[in-house]
Amino acid sequence: MTDAQTQKLLTTITQSVDKCTKCRLHKWRTRSVPGAGSPTATIVFVGEAPGFNEDEQGLPFVGRAGQLLSQLLAENKIPRQSVWIGNIIKCRPPENRDPMVDEIRACSPYLEKQIETINPKIIVTLGRFAMAHFIKEGSISENHGKVFRVKSRLVLPLYHPAAALRNTNVLEILRKDFTMIGKVTRGEAEIVELKKDKAGDDNQIPLI
Ligand code: URA
Ligand code: SF4
Repeated sequence: MTDAQTQKLLTTITQSVDKCTKCRLHKWRTRSVPGAGSPTATIVFVGEAPGFNEDEQGLPFVGRAGQLLSQLLAENKIPRQSVWIGNIIKCRPPENRDPMVDEIRACSPYLEKQIETINPKIIVTLGRFAMAHFIKEGSISENHGKVFRVKSRLVLPLYHPAAALRNTNVLEILRKDFTMIGKVTRGEAEIVELKKDKAGDDNQIPLI
């Protein structure tokens, strides 16, 4: 696919998300948050769902958690404009409550299509909901900072930056785990091979 074709497909997905009414969350949104960044990114970040600021602006990770994400990217010399950032859920849940299983099921095919289109080398998941979409086995406290091969792609689960803002121990772990991204891109990371049945897919309800 040429870069122009990739961009065109991503725009088509964005247009579908913008008018989507597949789950109840459309009722409360100001803007949907389809995701943003480079269509040719080798690194894709996947968060949970938009919060207050994201819903206002229609852009992912622009609030306090987003500022921390930007800071961690800068510390690791990864330009934010070189990556793509999206969420499992594209519309803000009321009061930032956890996404529900039927909402994840309705929304995650958009993310699947976006990832197929961008075709990144590595997917960095932020928080347990994003992790559970790709990896069935293990909790975030067991899996964080490890690199898994999931159906020909590499998945690195990290703690959510919002959790790191609440707890300095988590921030320390997140900061250390973040350096794994560079190790993966340099081919220096040890890779955990996941058995096929331990990998998630878009028909799977995350075990959480
Ligand atoms: N938290 C998320 O999981 N996603 C965002 O886009 C913002 C905050
Ligand atoms: Fe559609 Fe996803 Fe928004 Fe639900 S959260 S309305 S499935 S875009």
